[in-house]
Amino acid sequence: MTDCVFCRIAAGEMEPRIILETESVLAFHDLNPVAPQHALVIPRRHIATLDDTAPEDREVLGDVMLAGAEVARKLELEKKGYRTVMNCGHGGGQSVYHIHLHVLGGRNLSWPPG
Ligand code: AMP
Ligand code: ZN
Repeated sequence: MTDCVFCRIAAGEMEPRIILETESVLAFHDLNPVAPQHALVIPRRHIATLDDTAPEDREVLGDVMLAGAEVARKLELEKKGYRTVMNCGHGGGQSVYHIHLHVLGGRNLSWPPG
């Protein structure tokens, strides 16, 4: 059994609140939301960080971004706007080392982020 929590979710060993599933990605509500709406999109395949990606990951990275937009529409965030974020590494605020796109909305999001 893997100790990667998002691989375990992708393998169906845990039951997050799923928003959408495709052949290559999975989207679900974040366990500890930091906005009224806070979803995560993960590739089913393990990739630790954005820095570990290569040109051959182009398709799955595209799938993650497109799923992010679809999730935002499903959560009705598209009219008011929302933010997508992929934290990379310790200094970037990454805590789970399986890439994931945060989709945040439902309140005004300030810039720059903390
Ligand atoms: P990051 O800090 O960018 O790596 O984001 C990791 C995110 O994963 C955090 O927002 C956590 O709340 C979220 N998270 C961790 N474990 C789970 C889980 N089992 N189900 C849903 N979200 C999770
Ligand atoms: Zn993983």
